[in-house]
Amino acid sequence: MSVEVIAVGGYEEVGKNMSAVKVGDDVVIFDMGINLDRIHIHEDTDIARMHSLDLIERGVIPNDTLMKDVDGKVRAIVFSHGHLDHIGAVAKLAHRYDAPLIGTPYTLALAENSIKQERKFEVSNPLQVLNAGEKMQLSPDITLEFVHTTHSIPQAVHPVLHTPEGIIVYANDFKFDNHMMLSPPPDYDRLRQLGRKGVLALIVETTRMTETKQEKTYSEKVARIVLEDIMKDMLTSKEGLLVTTFSSHIERIQAICNIAQKSNRKILLLGRSMERFGSIAERMGLLELPKSASIFGSPKSVNRALARAEEKRSDYILVTTGHQGEPDALLPRIASGKTHFNVHPGDNVVISAPIIPNPTNAANRNLMERRLKGNGARIYTNAHVSGHAGREDHRDFIRMLQPEHIIPSHGDLEMLAAYTEMAEEEGYKMGNDIHVLRNGQAQVFNGGI
Ligand SMILES: [Zn+2]
Repeated sequence: MSVEVIAVGGYEEVGKNMSAVKVGDDVVIFDMGINLDRIHIHEDTDIARMHSLDLIERGVIPNDTLMKDVDGKVRAIVFSHGHLDHIGAVAKLAHRYDAPLIGTPYTLALAENSIKQERKFEVSNPLQVLNAGEKMQLSPDITLEFVHTTHSIPQAVHPVLHTPEGIIVYANDFKFDNHMMLSPPPDYDRLRQLGRKGVLALIVETTRMTETKQEKTYSEKVARIVLEDIMKDMLTSKEGLLVTTFSSHIERIQAICNIAQKSNRKILLLGRSMERFGSIAERMGLLELPKSASIFGSPKSVNRALARAEEKRSDYILVTTGHQGEPDALLPRIASGKTHFNVHPGDNVVISAPIIPNPTNAANRNLMERRLKGNGARIYTNAHVSGHAGREDHRDFIRMLQPEHIIPSHGDLEMLAAYTEMAEEEGYKMGNDIHVLRNGQAQVFNGGI
């Protein structure tokens, strides 16, 4: 029985992740993501009304047209976690496959939300929840298992396929965080067990490989302490206080709320995606908002909330979207004076996010920061730790799993190459047992019969 890994998207960029694994005649798809950079470039585009082929051409979603040449039955579409670069294309692509969508409860709720907003396609694939630590039979030859891991969104897992040829581990995305408030540490014991049983192939993210040298990624606990120190005096001051972070980073939002809760300020979580990720997380019991917190997503309700904050700024902390300076998100709009809340001299702005490196973000962020400063605000940047494994975490991961083959993914060629270099230090050799693929290429194991 042959095993084939097909690199559909995310092997030449950070974004639009999609991989397929073919075991005999069965195919399992992992993730269907969008490329967020491309959406920023085409910000006027109404994606909900666009056809998949248009979006493929613009590089927004993975080019899955190659899947029609794959000779096999797609048994499942499996999501690793709820970030848009992993689930954002579900409404554009899933209807082409007669297969269920499988994910943890939060991931599936977010995928379902994407499907509801879709205007072009009818997506009616059944949704099947699988919790971390559980297994599901996908075909006589394949069992899917979800192994718990940690990342910058709740309920991230490593989907694992048990096949007659060995175990396949899909590790997009993860970090090793042992000190989260909302999640236990990764299931290291299970990962080591899988390593002893025999991992045939590891498909693994490489997002931080070029920016980290000999280091592990710090825990969210570090971000909590940094935020606590930065916000301490601001919370009791008379000035305005704005914080921006990733809407999907529920752990971080919880930390910000917990810190703010110790003051008399009311917490306003503001912006469309803040409402999307936050409300679903709250409904599922993943986010525990203090009584002093409320979420507003629609432009009308956001404006009303901002008008209230404008009347007495020292009564509120505004937690907003727009950390990359995206012109249509909330913080950049506040900075440009386009809302009912005006930034005054002395107001504090905490940016709990890095600049996600691409030229558009760098320009947008720069412009937003200049506008905020122009209004007299004091800005704190990079109150943040990454949600992705560092180079030394990856080294530990390889030692835990001892995979026969490795396929680096979720990065550009430079990131895949940096990973390959580290794996060669661990005894692998490019072309023999570590395979660098481009979008549209495939790797076959065991020659196949
Ligand atoms: Zn992610």
